[in-house]
Parts: sequence; C-alpha cells; structure tokens
Amino acid sequence: MNATEDWDLVIVGAGPAGSSAATAALRAAPTARVLMLDTADFPRDKVCGDGVAPHAMDVLAGLGIAVTELSADTEPVTVTRDHLGYPVPTAQDRPPTWEPP
Ligand SMILES: Cc1cc2nc3c(=O)[nH]c(=O)nc-3n(C[C@H](O)[C@H](O)[C@H](O)COP(=O)(O)OP(=O)(O)OC[C@H]3O[C@@H](n4cnc5c(N)ncnc54)[C@H](O)[C@@H]3O)c2cc1C
Repeated sequence: MNATEDWDLVIVGAGPAGSSAATAALRAAPTARVLMLDTADFPRDKVCGDGVAPHAMDVLAGLGIAVTELSADTEPVTVTRDHLGYPVPTAQDRPPTWEPP
C-alpha cells in the first residue's frame, strides 16, 4: 500500500462496525476504493461469548451476507427473559431497529 494513494473511504477499526461499514459502502458503490486500517493482525483473538443475536443476523443479511450458510452448523439458543432480565421479541414481533434495553 502506498500512503499517498487516494481512497474514497478510509475506515479505522476493522471490527464488526468497521467491517459492516466497509461492506455497506461497497454494496452501495462497488467501484469505490475502500481502505480499512487496524492496529491488530487479523484474524484477531477477542474475548467473546460467541453468540450472534437475531437482530444482528438481520443486519448481516441486509448487508448481503449469507447468514443461513454461515450458521448452517450452529444450534440456535433460546434466550428468555430469565436469562437477560428483559423480554426478547420473537423474530415476527421484532422491529428492524430493536436494540436490547
Ligand atoms: C466479554 C465480551 C463478550 C462479548 N460477546 C459477544 C457475543 O457473544 N456476541 C456479540 O455479538 N457481541 C459480543 N460482545 C460485544 C462485541 O464484542 C462488540 O459489540 C463489538 O466487538 C463492537 O464492535 P466494534 O467494531 O464497534 O468495536 P471492536 O470490535 O472493538 O473493533 C474496533 C477495532 O478498532 C481497532 N482500533 C482501535 N483503535 C484503533 C486505532 N487507533 N487505529 C487502528 N485500529 C484501531 C481495534 O484493533 C479493533 O479491531 C462481547 C463483548 C465483550 C467485552
């Protein structure tokens, strides 16, 4: 990479937020020159519960990611109010912008 190259979009941080932003940008403008910068080497290790919430799956699907294929070998976990302390709407009831309280 040449530091003087021109980029249409430079994203600092290649975590879920940066990766989603880059994906969305390239879906909107496939010929855009997008640069992602991160201080970490990838794949990076990260403390994680290894769960993906249903509304996050919706966001990934909206970005064109084949979530059905990605989750093919996984088992869904039913999360109840008892687990989290708040009601979790079903996929049918969940508004697209629902966030955990
Ligand atoms: C213990 C724990 C468990 C979790 N478990 C889950 C889970 O099971 N499921 C789930 O969906 N979420 C989970 N999360 C939440 C999830 O990790 C965050 O919501 C998510 O990582 C946030 O993404 P992000 O892109 O905003 O930030 P980050 O993932 O933090 O990414 C930011 C990136 O920016 C880079 N960066 C920072 N500063 C600079 C810089 N100056 N220059 C260049 N690069 C930089 C970092 O290296 C990093 O790669 C968990 C969080 C924690 C703490």
